[in-house]
Amino acid sequence: MPLFIGSHVDLVAPDYLIHAVETSIKNGANTMMIYTGAPQNSIRKPTEIMKIQEAHQLMKMHGMPLDKIIVHAPYIINLGNTINPETATIGVTFLIRELTRVQSMGFSTLVLHPGAHVGAGSEVALASISERLNQVFAEDKTNVTIALETMAGKGSEVGIRFEEIRYLIDHSDHPERLGVCLDTCHIHDAGYDVQDIEGILKSFDQIIGLDKLKVIHINDSKNPKGAKKDRHENIGYGAIGFEALTRFVHHPQLAHLPKILETPWIDELTPYAKEIAMLKSKQLIQGWRETIK
Ligand code: FE
Ligand code: FE
Ligand code: ZN
Repeated sequence: MPLFIGSHVDLVAPDYLIHAVETSIKNGANTMMIYTGAPQNSIRKPTEIMKIQEAHQLMKMHGMPLDKIIVHAPYIINLGNTINPETATIGVTFLIRELTRVQSMGFSTLVLHPGAHVGAGSEVALASISERLNQVFAEDKTNVTIALETMAGKGSEVGIRFEEIRYLIDHSDHPERLGVCLDTCHIHDAGYDVQDIEGILKSFDQIIGLDKLKVIHINDSKNPKGAKKDRHENIGYGAIGFEALTRFVHHPQLAHLPKILETPWIDELTPYAKEIAMLKSKQLIQGWRETIK
């Protein structure tokens, strides 16, 4: 099996999905993650204009399997907001439409940040999220998986511990529609020891089940373990370090999963071609950020 590695890439008019695929190919990627529009809002253009068929052909030619491509929901969605329930209601409506968009683009996994309690406490938020997800699945007719992302614990985020993700799966009317996105920066910021990949996978398997894992976000972190900051760092420049991240990329139990980089750009320049090359080859180039300027 090849290694499936890529990064977040933008849909840019007028070529949209073709642009995203071309960018990924240029970076040496064979998978990718997209937002169907701006990540910070829910304004979306119709998928009919996004050059889907042509993009699929290009993907086929370059060995990019459709089922490894990831879509990320906008991060303004908060199904856990009970202080302002309207926010959660809007989130439900948006998600129902987004799942249809994902399916019409030929993809099958949508990453979602579980939500934040905005003062009401985690338990209230988790109950709200599971109820709202049930509303989504009651209406949605697709078979797209929602991959709940493990969060860093910034602000009032929930979904920080594996147990919280487990709660959401356990309380779902459609647990078969839920999966998990593991983010290395987030779990590190949440307090997990990312140096101990075997320990992490064991605990994930015991609490959630490794079959639920659908995608890995590969990011270094600007902050020490447990900092709950969620500030991504370039590969090899953060508190996690190159070796630990390489172990996630190449672990045999994770071989079938897409690995997606969401590391910061460097002065308007994309780091992904370099980062992907280093992770593939397991060779860190010291000071690589200087070489792309
Ligand atoms: Fe995310
Ligand atoms: Fe992430
Ligand atoms: Zn993050």
